[in-house]
Formats: sequence, C-alpha cells, structure tokens
Amino acid sequence: MTVAVEFQSVSRHFGPVKAVDSVDLTIAEGAFFAMLGPSGSGKTTCLRLISGFEQPTGGSIRIFGEDVSRTPPHLRNVNTVFQDYALFPHMNVRDNVAYGLMVKGMAKAARHARAEEMLALVKLDRYGDRKPGQLSGGQRQRVALARALVNEPRVLLLDEPLGALDLKLREAMQDELKALQQRLGITFVFVTHDQHEALSMADSLAVFNEGRIAQIGTPAEVYDRPATRFVADFVGSSNVLPPEMTRALGGPAQWASLRPENTRLAETGPVTGTVTALRYLGSGTRVILRAGETEIAALVPAGQPLPEPGATSAFAFAPDALHVMGGA
Ligand code: ATP
Repeated sequence: MTVAVEFQSVSRHFGPVKAVDSVDLTIAEGAFFAMLGPSGSGKTTCLRLISGFEQPTGGSIRIFGEDVSRTPPHLRNVNTVFQDYALFPHMNVRDNVAYGLMVKGMAKAARHARAEEMLALVKLDRYGDRKPGQLSGGQRQRVALARALVNEPRVLLLDEPLGALDLKLREAMQDELKALQQRLGITFVFVTHDQHEALSMADSLAVFNEGRIAQIGTPAEVYDRPATRFVADFVGSSNVLPPEMTRALGGPAQWASLRPENTRLAETGPVTGTVTALRYLGSGTRVILRAGETEIAALVPAGQPLPEPGATSAFAFAPDALHVMGGA
C-alpha cells in the first residue's frame, strides 16, 4: 500500500484552543477518505494542514512519503474544493477551470483544450462560455471540481463540497463524486458533518471529537463496532447501554451499543420497559421504551402490530448485535 497522507502526532493549537490535538492518521493512495465529526471538532483544520494553508504547532505531516511540514501550499501535489466553490464571478466557466494552468504558464489554446476535457468529465461540456452566476448550485459545484482536477493533483481535498445543495441534488452528486473518484483513482479526502454522506461514500473514515480522532475504520467497522459512546451516538442512532443494563441483557458490566434496527419488541425478555413514544419512519416504526434510566429504541417493521403508548414490552436482539465498547 502506498501512503498518500500521514500525520504523526500532529497538533494545531490556537492559543488555548486545541483545534487538532496529537492526531495520528494514515490515508492510503486511491482511498476515498472521509473526516466526519460535529462542528468545531477539527476536521477543516486537518484539511488545511494537508493543503498547507495551516501550519502544525507540533508533529509532522508527510504526503507521499515527503515531509511537507514546511512546504508551501502551491508546492504540494494537493488541491482543495471549497464549500463556497470560490469561483471567479467575472470569468467564464472555461477560464475558471483553466486558471491553474494559466498560473503555471500554459499557452491559451492548450489550457482551453484541457479545460474542455475537464468540463466533459464533469458533464458540463457545453457550458464553457457561461459565467458562474448563470449556473445552478450543482453545476457550480462541478465547475469547482473541474477547476481542482485540471491541476492533476494526487490528493483532492473537499471541504463540505455538497453542503450548499438541496437533498435531491446532494444525493445525485454523491453518486457522481464517488464514480468520478473511482474512475480517476485520485485520493479524495472529504470533510463532512453528515454521517449518511460519510458512510455511503467513504472507503475509510475518521470520526473526530474535540480535536482528536475517536475512531478510524471502514464505514461498516465504525457503524457496527463503535469504539466509544461518542461514536455510537454520533454515527447513526444507537441505544447506548450503561454497564448495569448490558449485564442485565446477558453481557459484561460495560458500556455497550445496540442498533435500533437490530432490536425488536418481544413477548418475554430479561428486561421490560414502558412504551413512551412511537416514531413513524416509513419503512417501519421506531418504538421508544423506557427501562429505568435507559431509553431503548426498537424497530417494528411496516405492517406489524404496534403497541400503545404506556404499554409494557420486553425486547429481543441477536446476541452479536450487542456491541461492548471500551471503558471510554
Ligand atoms: P465545522 O464543521 O463547523 O467547519 P470543524 O470540525 O471543521 O467544524 P475546525 O474549523 O477545524 O472545526 O475548528 C476546530 C476548532 O478550532 C474550533 O473550536 C474553532 O473555533 C477553532 N479554530 C479554527 N480556526 C481558528 C483560528 N484561526 N483561530 C482560533 N481558533 C480557531
């Protein structure tokens, strides 16, 4: 495996604020890597450390094996697509895309030809003469992508690139971005606070919390085997069970995670609760039970009978659905 990006105990402190705090990270070449976490958890700062717009206050950063901790942004083989796209409004789409090549001194005819190739790649080949203001949000997003790709970066950094799009377009662009990344084989590092986006697009993801990485893994690893309560709670909704509840359900006296979709209502079981709420989801109904201090959500598939609020019910789950977490 070739390593594209490597952090060794990288920190970026702003006075007392530990925006990034001793982060170790390895991103494989050709990966679609997502950085997921709540607002303020340090994702964007990590991305800026890779691009070189931010300098670490500690640790070292390597890109394809080379220590770039002191290398300015334009000498790193890395480009960024920003959330606001940062297109030049007075330039047409072709010149926006060709801009990086112009800066490098490429002749006009050659750079326009390259720009057209990139526009074809993002399915905007007839839009070269338009100004950014004459495009839809999704089209502007693709121009920003073409403008970054024209520089042939080995690593493309994307900072919430779909954040400005409505849900439908966002989902369509997720598929397009994923397909494009697979076709080009470029390493993508993608920042998002949207767990669905991270789970569905990434090969591998890091979950950030307060400047540190709470867990790194494949989407399935992070979802099925969350390392901490924070991850269980942030990535998808989960029943986070305190040690005494885990023990009552037949596990060890430790914190555990149990996904609602793996939990069913049952006639009998070691623990019973009172139905406090029903949430219709379309594909089924989520039933919230209260057992002592703990809330447990179970899924009742569509078409099956639902309990009344206030009723008492037990619940059941497959033994391997109960995931015991570390002490954290
Ligand atoms: P969001 O999803 O809201 O963009 P994020 O996870 O990308 O959040 P960062 O932008 O990396 O978070 O910020 C991490 C922390 O560092 C925040 O507390 C932020 O206020 C702080 N921070 C970022 N840049 C600076 C700066 N230039 N000066 C001081 N504090 C900063």
